[in-house]
Amino acid sequence: MNAPVLVINCGSSSIKYALIDSDPQAPRLAGLAERLGSSDARLKGKNSAGESFTQPLPNADHAEALNAILQRLEGRVPGAVGHRIVHGGEHFTQAALVDDSVIEAIETTAALAPLHNPANLAGIAATRKVFPELPQVAVFDTAFHQTLPPRAYRYALPEALYTEHGIRRYGFHGTSHAFVSQRAGELSSRGAGGWLTAHLGNGCSTAAVWNNQSLDTSMGLTPLEGLVMGTRSGDVDPGLHAHLHRQLGWSVDEIDNVLNKQSGLLGLSGLTNDMREVEDQAMAGHPGAKLALDVFCYRIAKSLAALSCALPTLDGVIFTGGIGENSPIVRREVLALLPHFGFSLDEAANEATIRGKEGKLDSAGHSGPEVWVIPTDEEGRIAMETRHCVETPE
Ligand code: AMP
Repeated sequence: MNAPVLVINCGSSSIKYALIDSDPQAPRLAGLAERLGSSDARLKGKNSAGESFTQPLPNADHAEALNAILQRLEGRVPGAVGHRIVHGGEHFTQAALVDDSVIEAIETTAALAPLHNPANLAGIAATRKVFPELPQVAVFDTAFHQTLPPRAYRYALPEALYTEHGIRRYGFHGTSHAFVSQRAGELSSRGAGGWLTAHLGNGCSTAAVWNNQSLDTSMGLTPLEGLVMGTRSGDVDPGLHAHLHRQLGWSVDEIDNVLNKQSGLLGLSGLTNDMREVEDQAMAGHPGAKLALDVFCYRIAKSLAALSCALPTLDGVIFTGGIGENSPIVRREVLALLPHFGFSLDEAANEATIRGKEGKLDSAGHSGPEVWVIPTDEEGRIAMETRHCVETPE
């Protein structure tokens, strides 16, 4: 298929899009329709000349926004649409060509991702209306982690909770962990060995990838487990929920809201969920920001050390995501907490590898496990999987 792929990431009030050519290096048309359903809904993006535009779309719904996006594709006709779907449960181990049975399976999984899957399905419905003739492909955040062995994906809970209710660890950010680990295997002389990946953005997760297969990851049943994130707590004592309920009288919804929206960097710093500001304030001596940075880095290092147990050999660590790609401070602090792993960071390379640069950060002559920064390309990976699915249907 030579035609470009339209990649859609649909939220409850937003649609992120990118038109991606078969040559992954070709310039992309990309943008974001946001605040859908409200009077200040709008479409923002860039044209092929790199010029930004903002178009008001008052009260537009998803289908109207897609029609506006269609007008921004500069006459280029996509050959397929690739949808980012957050949760594929155990049903989807790879991308799937959308038909009624796939939609039904995504609906069934919605209980596991009540905020995300219904919005993703609304995106599929609107896209089918606007592009009825195009093949649509569902690409799942969870699918890459379906290779986890039971010892990594089972919680130590009564079996019926797993067999009857699907309570297990699923993992997320799969397209990102898959993309950066595969890329490291291509770039490094070590090939597709054992890689620890750290996707550090607003959401954060780590994974252990062996031979392009995920063997463990830090997120679990939901994207709340694991690392400290922008506003998410990551791991807490499972007894915390009962304690907050009994001692403070908090409801399940209040607890959920605090752990997902008021915790993480924001909760610890008392200032912000934005790592740039946390770093600036920490440098200026703000105690909350210093603590937030400290806990954030320590928890990443602890998670990487734990996940190394999943790998037969350790070939290196990969940093990606807005923080992983842009923060020499976080990379330095995390690696400093893992002295027994034999990494050797070249400080100049660390400082210079920011703003979308790809690179190995090892000191000259170093022969231990490698340190890489690889900018993630979740949209490119979704386009690639969409293309593959359309060209080689099961
Ligand atoms: P993402 O969700 O991947 O877009 O990442 C967003 C996170 O990346 C936010 O916490 C930003 O503050 C952080 N970030 C972006 N640029 C930088 C930077 N130059 N230094 C530190 N953090 C950054």
